[in-house]
Amino acid sequence: MSHVLSTYARFPVTLVRGEGTRVWDDHDKSYLDFCTGIAVCSLGHCHPRLVETIRAQAGTLMHVSNLYSTRQQEELAQVIVEDHVKLPGKVFFANSGAEANDGLIKSARKFGHARPQADGSPRYEVLSFTKSFHGRTLGGINATGQDKVKEGFDPMLPGFRHLPFNDLAALEAAIAPETAAILLEPVQGEGGVNVATPEFLRGVAALCKKHDLLLMLDEVQTGYGRCGQAMAWRQIAPEIQPDAISWAKGMGGGFPIGAFWLSDRSIDASGKELSSLMGPGTHGTTYGGNPLACASSLAVLAEIAEKDLNANALKQEERIRETIASWNLPVITEVRGIGLLLGVGLDVSKFEVPAGKLPAGFVCGKLLEAGLLVPPAGPETIRLLPPLNVSDEEIDEALAIFKSVLVAL
Ligand SMILES: *Cc1c(COP(=O)(O)O)cnc(C)c1O
Repeated sequence: MSHVLSTYARFPVTLVRGEGTRVWDDHDKSYLDFCTGIAVCSLGHCHPRLVETIRAQAGTLMHVSNLYSTRQQEELAQVIVEDHVKLPGKVFFANSGAEANDGLIKSARKFGHARPQADGSPRYEVLSFTKSFHGRTLGGINATGQDKVKEGFDPMLPGFRHLPFNDLAALEAAIAPETAAILLEPVQGEGGVNVATPEFLRGVAALCKKHDLLLMLDEVQTGYGRCGQAMAWRQIAPEIQPDAISWAKGMGGGFPIGAFWLSDRSIDASGKELSSLMGPGTHGTTYGGNPLACASSLAVLAEIAEKDLNANALKQEERIRETIASWNLPVITEVRGIGLLLGVGLDVSKFEVPAGKLPAGFVCGKLLEAGLLVPPAGPETIRLLPPLNVSDEEIDEALAIFKSVLVAL
């Protein structure tokens, strides 16, 4: 009997070690890992550079309070702003994606106080989208546009509404005097791998300008190479300029870290910077941004840059798309996504699903038995999230397993 709270319906396997794109269970059976801890292990498992960095930093300085500064935190913030976001701004370090998004929501509320409604009352509303996922904290579930994460946790917080994704007219019609920000994933991950169209992203950015709203991007799953660029928005509509961005997952390669960035753009005639709204005393964390986490992320980002893993992500996307298209399998409806955040849509009328199981979860279970780890994304989509340094041979091997399982259905 497990003493772990049963918040997850887990697959029946216990994993004990990993190396590169492979993991092993407690019976020494090996699996190709195209789940990577949900887009976390960007460099695969136990990458020597990351392991050595963690060993060395753990033996030098693991944790100090944010009451003091550390070189690793300063350096990582500089790398993020100058090499990755490439827009002036400041970074706050957290430990997870949900926490990073809570920081964005708090920033939106600060902004709504600094730039209030015509009658002087603060703006506070964050608009987000159906099928979005923004995390499991109270702030995260309020922002998330899926009922299943909210059931039994009402009453919800005031100040959140959800609009259909990629529908600019609906969004424009919904903007109210109390609206302060729009929050979106450039590619919705958990909600089924739905890509924002360039027109939608550009339109949202224009609406934010017109109505003085913050454009907040949740790049928790899409950021740092997953979609073939440091930031997924640049792969879709490079000309837009977000006001705020959140990250976690892949930026630590497996070491827990999250972050959000706020732009230095001025928000009033006096030149007051947006990033200055989150000043001393407004926000905090005990663990966030400790030297061990920041050193890990620095190693991951350096490896991605030096090996040009962004290019590999785009190259392997092509390989996956071409191979799957060549099968002509009626059970596959389409392949969605960008880079190595891909969703394979299933025609669920084409196979039998045991009672009580969701189709995608059932197929993921079959793939696991056949030696391939992949997560579902919604009830009808299989997600492919290999490490960014995955090889041609590993892609071919994984797809061969994938095909054989789908054919056997
Ligand atoms: C995973 C995810 C989150 C939540 O991140 P945690 O680290 O699990 O809190 C938030 N937003 C998106 C887009 C995610 O994919």
